[in-house]
Amino acid sequence: MKLLTRIFALSLAVICMMGITISASAAKSTLLSKLSSKSVTNITSARTIKQDLVVDEGKTLYVRNGGVLYVNTGATLTLKGDMKIANGGAVYVRGNIIVNDSSLLSCSGKIKILSSGSVKLDGRLWVNATGNINGKGKIYVNDSFSDIRYRGRITAKLVAPKPVRMNGATYVGGILIVNKQYSLPENYGSGLTDEAYNAYTKMKKASGHNMSIVSGFRSYQKQQNTFNYWCNKDGYDKAVTYSALPGHSEHQTGLAMDITSLSQTYANTAEGKWLAANCHKYGFIIRYPKGKTEITGYIYEPWHIRYLGTDIAKMVYDSGLTLEEFLGVA
Ligand SMILES: [Zn+2]
Repeated sequence: MKLLTRIFALSLAVICMMGITISASAAKSTLLSKLSSKSVTNITSARTIKQDLVVDEGKTLYVRNGGVLYVNTGATLTLKGDMKIANGGAVYVRGNIIVNDSSLLSCSGKIKILSSGSVKLDGRLWVNATGNINGKGKIYVNDSFSDIRYRGRITAKLVAPKPVRMNGATYVGGILIVNKQYSLPENYGSGLTDEAYNAYTKMKKASGHNMSIVSGFRSYQKQQNTFNYWCNKDGYDKAVTYSALPGHSEHQTGLAMDITSLSQTYANTAEGKWLAANCHKYGFIIRYPKGKTEITGYIYEPWHIRYLGTDIAKMVYDSGLTLEEFLGVA
């Protein structure tokens, strides 16, 4: 057997020297140029898409355990129906996958998006607990981040759509953004949202810590008074470095809270450490991380959390980015 392997390796080397390149995977895979007329097409071995292919409405392309699908450079796989990748199934994307508005791409296996590849998302993407999407290619979120159900892991770059202005507030992929650049109108907000408050209550209970809300919702008017107070005390130039201008405080969204202590040493307490490591599981992020002042406009605030919902909070947490960077508005 060993000799045979050597002979095979030798002949492969000869073929390569002759200028013919064979990739082990492509050599073994067969072409997928048409889908089954049945409602489900099962991929159980290695198959390659070399030309554009459409999964029609009502149909499912199912990459089963042991199945491998290659979407070659220049080829586009358009989902008008659905695509499912089972645990143990894999898709290598060198071309494009387009997920149409009413379609679902559900991944319990692996998707590797290579640098020449992309996934364009108008429909839904489910990254299930065992699902993993990686590679140097990009996932373009054309509509909303809430189209993504996120239980597994994405390390491929998520590209957000452009900011949209609605009733004086700015949203990126459905996420409200408020910072030194983007503001809220004077009449926006009336308290912490039920969702954010309920998530806080659940988190506090699970943590076993006190986690008191030092500051929750702050109205435009209250922020004006707060800013004026610091202005009179320290002068405008200094006040503007730590206090938000009215309309620019994230506390006006009803989605932000200051927890327990307004001191950076809070990060070293057991509670502060728990919050940093776990708040994403309850839908929050530490909004102003350490060393990101240039990007967020704020000093490290280990106490200030922002509610995004569990899926998006985990996405931001896993990305290691600030919200500005994640949303492409840094
Ligand atoms: Zn705060």
